[in-house]
Amino acid sequence: MASSAPIELPSSILIVGSGAFGLSTAWSLCQNPQFKNTLVTVVDRQPFPTPDGSSIDTSRIIRPDYAASHYTRLATIAQKRWRADFAPEHYHEVGLCVTAWGPEQKYVSNSLANVRAIGTDKVEVLGSAEDIRRVCGLEGKDEWGSGSTGYVNWSSGWADAEGAMLWLRKEVEKLNRVKFMTKSVKKLLIDHKSNTVSGVQFNDSTELKADLTMLAAGPWTASLIDLRGICKATGQVLCYMPISKEEEATLSKRPTVLNLSQGLFMIPPSKGLLKVARHGHGYVNPTTVPSPESDDPNDTITISLPYTHVDDPSQSVPEEGQRQCRDFLTAIHPSLSIPSRPFTKSKICWYTDTRDGEFLISYHPIYKGLFVATGGSGHGFKFLPVIGDNIVECIQGRTPEDFKGRWEWPAERVPEELWAGDGSRGGPIGMVLNEEIAKSRGKL
Ligand SMILES: Cc1cc2nc3c(=O)[nH]c(=O)nc-3n(C[C@H](O)[C@H](O)[C@H](O)COP(=O)(O)OP(=O)(O)OC[C@H]3O[C@@H](n4cnc5c(N)ncnc54)[C@H](O)[C@@H]3O)c2cc1C
Repeated sequence: MASSAPIELPSSILIVGSGAFGLSTAWSLCQNPQFKNTLVTVVDRQPFPTPDGSSIDTSRIIRPDYAASHYTRLATIAQKRWRADFAPEHYHEVGLCVTAWGPEQKYVSNSLANVRAIGTDKVEVLGSAEDIRRVCGLEGKDEWGSGSTGYVNWSSGWADAEGAMLWLRKEVEKLNRVKFMTKSVKKLLIDHKSNTVSGVQFNDSTELKADLTMLAAGPWTASLIDLRGICKATGQVLCYMPISKEEEATLSKRPTVLNLSQGLFMIPPSKGLLKVARHGHGYVNPTTVPSPESDDPNDTITISLPYTHVDDPSQSVPEEGQRQCRDFLTAIHPSLSIPSRPFTKSKICWYTDTRDGEFLISYHPIYKGLFVATGGSGHGFKFLPVIGDNIVECIQGRTPEDFKGRWEWPAERVPEELWAGDGSRGGPIGMVLNEEIAKSRGKL
């Protein structure tokens, strides 16, 4: 769908959300001479680093390994920055092993074809569970865990996500251009007569006006603009186990192992913590909220929104998720998965999923003065060094050629049950967070 026209050099830009999308955009704006007279404000509901933000965690995989070649291209550019000068202490190139139970998992073969096409000589095809075990140093022989087909890309890696975000925040602060605020946005200021957004109202009823308001509120964005049929929040499972210095020294040199048949992965440990997680269909959390575009407070909509350890400090991952992570660890590293070594921490981290895994980086089709940058779909972090530049290009009406028709506001809203995804997700489908929490009672 054609989005509303780009605003010619706004004198003020208000970015809602200081996650990867929002902060990277602020960084790019500050360095772009065309915006040298633009007032840039970044507001977040939490002090930085946002404890439950999707961009804040021990680690994120950095890979060009995509079944969609346009993301392979963009990730390759981002990776050059990770290797060269972007948050250099926080990037570790130890490889990524992408596996599956069999060739029917097409994401693996498509991704292999794409990374081969960029000419890397650091890819090794793995035709058996034994090959996967050898390359990843797995002790377990259970193919449910390792998978039995796949490849390793030694030029992929991972980053300390929180460390990289703190690094970027300092870089932005050094430029002395951005006003940072900690306040929760309650709603957009929408004039329905002229279909214009002129800023935001905060929870304390104060307002902030701007020529251009950019929503980059990650999985919470759907509480500020109607994204039904376009984006939804899905809760993903993360479990952590303390490990010794000796174990860390060994495991940290090995590649991430990501089995796309059930979505489970183990990322190399850091700071004494091993992380086992699931890249899955996730939990939905249907929540009834005031209709974000309506002036009538009695008008409500029901959408999936994050519910995190900030909302409930005692929150832990439901039993089924913890069990899957445990089963995976037992299958690949049985000696770590003994009863005396429980996961000591678990958390639910929220993806902003779109129907096909494409980001949503677009002017709003109806409201002038409103731009949306979200839809990370569980793979947005690796683009931290470059996504801000891309977002600013889109703000200027110059969406990159291969993302035209992909990042733009979709022509129609599609019921969630018809979403195809990007083919990378594994694990159970259709889980509701509250139901899984109820089933977990007495089991954790
Ligand atoms: C468990 C997990 C694993 C992932 N693994 C990978 C990976 O391995 N590799 C990869 O590349 N990507 C990965 N991703 C995806 C990546 O982390 C996200 O795509 C990216 O971080 C999204 O950034 P964001 O800025 O859109 O959202 P966020 O980082 O969530 O930022 C949104 C911000 O908006 C703020 N906000 C929300 N509502 C309001 C409001 N009303 N007022 C003010 N502020 C508000 C929030 O506090 C938050 O700080 C993963 C994501 C998760 C959750």
